Order: sequence, then C-alpha cells, then structure tokens
Amino acid sequence: MVLRTAYTSVPVTTLATGAEVRVPIHEVRGQAGDGPTLGLTACLHGDEQVGTEILYRVLAEVDAAQMKGRLLVVPVANPLAYGAITRHTPLDMHNLNRVFPGGGEGFFTHQLAEVLVGHVLSKLDYYVDFHAGGAYATVDYLFIENAEDLSRAFGSPVLFRPPGGYGYGGSTASYTVGRGVPTVTVELGGGAIDQTAYVRRGVTGVFNIMREIGMIPGEPAPAPRQTVLRTLLTMRPRAGGFLIPEVTALNVEVPQGTVLGRTLSPYSFEELEVFRAPFSPSLTVLVRVTPCRINPGDYGYMIGDLSTAETT
Ligand SMILES: [Zn+2]
Repeated sequence: MVLRTAYTSVPVTTLATGAEVRVPIHEVRGQAGDGPTLGLTACLHGDEQVGTEILYRVLAEVDAAQMKGRLLVVPVANPLAYGAITRHTPLDMHNLNRVFPGGGEGFFTHQLAEVLVGHVLSKLDYYVDFHAGGAYATVDYLFIENAEDLSRAFGSPVLFRPPGGYGYGGSTASYTVGRGVPTVTVELGGGAIDQTAYVRRGVTGVFNIMREIGMIPGEPAPAPRQTVLRTLLTMRPRAGGFLIPEVTALNVEVPQGTVLGRTLSPYSFEELEVFRAPFSPSLTVLVRVTPCRINPGDYGYMIGDLSTAETT
C-alpha cells in the first residue's frame, strides 16, 4: 500500500554509534474544510507494537478528500525501544511515558519526550494514544481521561475510570490533559497471538472518534454495552519463571478464586506462584493467552472489580 501522507522525521540526537535517532511524523490534511488537529501515537512503549499497525491502516484507509482538519500520526514514538522490543528505552532504561514533558537537560528519554512535545503534542486539539499488553500479555480496555464521550465512542466494551481523575503522571496523556486537550488512552491487543481483530477494532475506533468530533462524515457506530471499572488491580508476579495460563479469555467474568495461571520454575518445574481472581466477581482485563516467560514485577494480570463497576 502506498500512503498518501506527508511524511517527515524530526531529529532527536545522534548516538555514540553515529546512528541518528529521529521521530517519525505523518501528516494528513483534510480537503473537506477546516477542522481540529487529531494526534495519534503508538509505541511510547516499544513492546506494544500492534498500535503501529493500527496507525498504518488508519493512514491507508482514511479518505483525505472527505476529511476536515488534520491528522498528526506518530507510529513509533520510541524507536530505540521499538527496535529492542522493550517497554523502556534501552539506552537509559527510562519509561518514556513517565517523563513528559521531558527536557533537553535530562536523559535521552527526556530529550525524546521534549521533541514529541514540540513537534506533535503541543499542536493537538484531540489526542488518542495506543498502548497494548506488550510482547506476552494481551489487554482490552480504555482509560477515561478527560473525554468520556470520546473514550466511549471508540467502542470498546470495558473502560476504566481512574480514581485520581486521570492516568499516570509524566504520560503523554497527563501533558495533553493538562492543556485541556480531550484525550483517549487505548489499551488494546498485544501478546504472541494473532492481532487481526485488535487491529480492526483499533482502526474502527479511530474512525468512530473522528466521526464523533466531525472530522469525517457519518454517525459513529453505536457503542456496545459498556462496563466502566472503578477498581482495576494489576497483579505483579513475585516470582519469575514459566507462566502457564488457565484463563485466557479477555473481558469475561470469573468467580473470585478462579485460577488464572500458574508460574512454574522452567528448571525444576516446581510451582512457584498461583494467580487467582481477586474480586467477587472478577473481570479479566489483561491476561496471558499463551505460556510465556514471566519476571517479578511484570504486568502479570489486570483484573477489574465488577462489584463496584458501572454498566450502561
Ligand atoms: Zn504502554
């Protein structure tokens, strides 16, 4: 597919190897009139690569002749982490999505954040950021940041209303929310499984949001029945090893105490840890679909508390 976008890449710095690091930016200018600038980013975390494919297909399918306003699309926000398939930047081990707005006096990751702010995030009227479960985990929910209508319009069945109002300090979303930019953080797909369905949902979700804000014609597809979680527990392993999942379905209700997976030593095959559904009842939000290596402190499972959830 040949994309008809204006592509530029902005220099960040030069590494000791001599390799230049650049931030990729695609711009699409709508030909149907003036309108807002919508920013789309992926791979703030380099092991969440499905977002990059979602943005590729959005650019391949968007019809600029029918579009108002402008798209600014960053398919890989952290090229070093993308190349290494790591959550954090391998050069300095910082988490790009915790250092915004960054700054030239900081580590490499802070310098990268500063470029993303200057060339993309400071120019937006609306913002959607794609995350995923990483190399081994699969996830399916949206944060409600400061634009519940847009988060709902994306069309995912499960949303999370963070108790503090919005998500993580130092994230791109904290920067745009701080500027009053309606912001949606998507957590979708990931893991060592076929991503086709997640890619399609991501593309559909972006176009639904673009309809909702009047950038493309048509009515957004009606959202499915949606569950809004108010408690979402990240279960981090205490032991590393070889995780054998037992519950592999996402966005399903399971009784409290249900075994989600077991970690074995890959050496002695001793059982090291058992993950059990913590709430009565529990909703699976991030799971491991396939047996995989797991480390202490990883995102093992994310489980929602259905007893305190809102449904519509
Ligand atoms: Zn992420």
